Amino acid sequence: MIDPTRAREVAAGLMLALALACDPESEVPQAIEAVRDAVHEREAAARSPAPAPASDASDAPASDAPAPDAPARPGGIVLRRPWPPTSLPLALLATMGAPPPAPSRATIRDDEGGVIASYRPGDRVRADVEVLSIEDGLVELSNGGEVEYLSISEIPVELSADDVFYPDLVDELRLSGSMDDAVPMPPGPEYTTKAEALSWATPRTVALLREAIHAYARGRKAPKLHVGDISLRSGGPFPPHLSHQDGRDVDIAYVLHDRSRFGVATSTSLDRRHTWALVRALLDTRAITYVFIDYEVQRLLYDHALAEGLLPEQLDPWFQYPYGRRAARGIIRHWKGHRDHLHVRFAE
Ligand SMILES: [Zn+2]
Repeated sequence: MIDPTRAREVAAGLMLALALACDPESEVPQAIEAVRDAVHEREAAARSPAPAPASDASDAPASDAPAPDAPARPGGIVLRRPWPPTSLPLALLATMGAPPPAPSRATIRDDEGGVIASYRPGDRVRADVEVLSIEDGLVELSNGGEVEYLSISEIPVELSADDVFYPDLVDELRLSGSMDDAVPMPPGPEYTTKAEALSWATPRTVALLREAIHAYARGRKAPKLHVGDISLRSGGPFPPHLSHQDGRDVDIAYVLHDRSRFGVATSTSLDRRHTWALVRALLDTRAITYVFIDYEVQRLLYDHALAEGLLPEQLDPWFQYPYGRRAARGIIRHWKGHRDHLHVRFAE
């Protein structure tokens, strides 16, 4: 059972970090500093008033229980585990307890992808890495079947300007999933798909995606679209993707003037008119949770939409641009790796 006072305290620390991180007005370096400070405060709170000896984790006896003379840590953090700390490049930024039946959450940064996401027990951090349990300041992971732990860092966590974290999408960004009713995206005259093995989706996603593509192509001589990865037949981990696990995430190439598939969109290569028509068709399904589009590509599409006669107040509910690439607003969000395709998530 989680001590409610402690849970509130930890949650407050996390909320502070979230509030600062999502402030669209703040400069990026300031926001990063603020998150870092909040994390440090959290760490300092975890260390005091009984500072842990330097050898706290390394000389752990092979026992789940603390030694009788183990220094007491506030909140009952016990780093003595029969299993080792993980060597994966992951940083635990915060844990948040919750009274049952709500699950505890851990905010983890994957240093390789620069992705900060919130996880619950059972969620996968990577294809072969699953969160087993979350305690105050400590996460147990299964790494390829081996149990390891990840604790809140004693050394400063390096955050970068490219890190992505949208507090309002924390629930939607749950990355794990599976499917038992998948159907393959059928071929169609207006688009190409990848191999059937990579194109499984929920029946609803297939229907909505085809509806959007028909709307895109209707009444115009539209270039063929290129649909990329969706999900594997039963869902689940689909490396190198973080999501694409439950048949609701679809990659689609931007429409380029040279009609190449999955080329990088630039101010010269991007066919703004047709790509914007595609994005509009997706938005018009009203069943989109978010679309990831690189911030620079957002700028090109936003300016094009203005040139087509739309007003900023019409674009505001859709675009994160021009409020900054960390702004938690709009359906269209920046996420790195989306210079050559957009990623659309359909609502459940
Ligand atoms: Zn994707």
